[in-house]
Amino acid sequence: MNDIKRNLHHIQTTIPEGVTLVAVSKTKPIADLMDAYEAGQRIFGENKIQEMSEKWDTMPKDISWHMIGHVQTNKVKYMAPFVDLIHAVDSYKLLKEIDKQAKKHTRTINCLLQIKIAEEESKFGLTEQDALTLLNSEEVKNLTNIHIQGVMGMATFTNDQQQIQNEFHKIAAFSEKLKLKYPQLTTLSIGMSGDYKMAIECGSTMIRVGSAIFGARNYG
Ligand SMILES: *Cc1c(COP(=O)(O)O)cnc(C)c1O
Repeated sequence: MNDIKRNLHHIQTTIPEGVTLVAVSKTKPIADLMDAYEAGQRIFGENKIQEMSEKWDTMPKDISWHMIGHVQTNKVKYMAPFVDLIHAVDSYKLLKEIDKQAKKHTRTINCLLQIKIAEEESKFGLTEQDALTLLNSEEVKNLTNIHIQGVMGMATFTNDQQQIQNEFHKIAAFSEKLKLKYPQLTTLSIGMSGDYKMAIECGSTMIRVGSAIFGARNYG
């Protein structure tokens, strides 16, 4: 068994049932993704639309592709034929475009709302109030070809485990609150290589793990 298969096997067998593993394969060659595929992995996460499209083109068609990076509205059309879940939706404008492009392909595209949880000033993500306003709006309720299935968060880039835990607890509490009104928002996407165990303890249902499977990246 090579390193990728061994790493993946370890994670797959140690995470609890009910937690979905997204193998974050950005910057990695197709041969590495195929190792993971052969080890049974069927969900891959990428952060660039062009790179994801190229990989989708050449790889087996039973893979679920997740876009985990920031999305520019004018690029949605390139992934609309195949993307399964978009993690970082943070505006009505983007939701509307995803809906429009999904319709062209007679598909439904799953989405998560990115919630701002990091202390650091981040350009992306919605405040809890903005997310509620979006979910409550008639415009969003009228979008027929998207399915908002939960929320996603990125913790502050820090070694301070306590701070990361606080941020995870905060979004987990928000996720619980949302589910009271919107029971379909079942997904909580938090946790990466360095903190996925803590994220699971905080209630994560979807972890996005890259380097702990594929090894360190040179860039990205
Ligand atoms: C790169 C990336 C990850 C994975 O990071 P690792 O530390 O390599 O596990 C997870 N989520 C997002 C949004 C990313 O961009």
